Amino acid sequence: MSLFTLHNESIYQIKAPLPFPLRWVNSYLIRGKDGYTLIDPGLHTEAAEQFWEQAMHELGIGFRDIEQIVLTHHHPDHYGLAGYFQERSDAPVRMSAIGYEQVGLLWGEGQPMTASLLRLFTRHGMPEEMLLSMQDHMDSFVSLVSPQPKVSIMTIGDSIMLGDHEYATLHTPGHAAGHVCFYRAETKEMLCGDHVIPQISPNVSYLPGSIDENPLGSFLQSLEAIGRYDVAWAYPGHREPFEKFSLRTQELIQHHESRLELMREMLLERPLTAYEVCRNTFGNKLTLHQLRFALSETLAHLIYMRESGKIKQVEQEACLYFQA
Ligand SMILES: [Zn+2]
Ligand SMILES: [Zn+2]
Repeated sequence: MSLFTLHNESIYQIKAPLPFPLRWVNSYLIRGKDGYTLIDPGLHTEAAEQFWEQAMHELGIGFRDIEQIVLTHHHPDHYGLAGYFQERSDAPVRMSAIGYEQVGLLWGEGQPMTASLLRLFTRHGMPEEMLLSMQDHMDSFVSLVSPQPKVSIMTIGDSIMLGDHEYATLHTPGHAAGHVCFYRAETKEMLCGDHVIPQISPNVSYLPGSIDENPLGSFLQSLEAIGRYDVAWAYPGHREPFEKFSLRTQELIQHHESRLELMREMLLERPLTAYEVCRNTFGNKLTLHQLRFALSETLAHLIYMRESGKIKQVEQEACLYFQA
């Protein structure tokens, strides 16, 4: 089996392995006359290193053929190998300023996000005995994004050359602060990162100290906006490239609307913490990794409803509750 798929003469899709149920992240190599643009190289694991060695061998390219590394967003499954590739290729790593700010909060000196995330989860009802393992879990990501790259800031709104073609950079916050999609009008192609994914619904997390106080609001807004682009072919960060892009954006909006309604109904009988709403929605069999995403996603929904006045937040004994 080939380790890559060639789309449209110059875009290679490469499925870099992930040790999560997602199984792989789509990296894209775009060939140009001056070298290759590498989009979202993946998570830094030994398996991924070995995989890339084989894939590059099969493609007949070396590290020095990489002209630039471009990131749709800062999540470890996309950003993690950027520094590894930079060390070997000397290529610039480009990402949005907001994305780079998140990198600093998550994996910069002292990892400031971890402590504030644990405080946030405590306030929202997570049992104390889970907090310690959550701390370890957060710490375990540092090695998966190291070495960290020197970053060149990509200005959102400016166009960018990927290979030999010009792409528009579209700000699409929600799944991640500072998330960027790349659109080539000529061929109606959209590199959409994790903003729009077929079959699975991208996680939308509320995070402490983030510049996005209402990530679900941002996500729904950027889905509306990007759904208006004329897209023949979309290249997502997970699963397979797909058509019917606008339809997928509408499906995702509907998915969140029904989830919002479901959560609001839960809050009609009595006030609940975000942790309780999370357990009611996602069940009790989650791994720590899944629980972190599920609780942050629940918070994004509850905060969205609080901001639009559908539910209220009340405080009882240092814990926050929501009620319809
Ligand atoms: Zn992501
Ligand atoms: Zn991802």
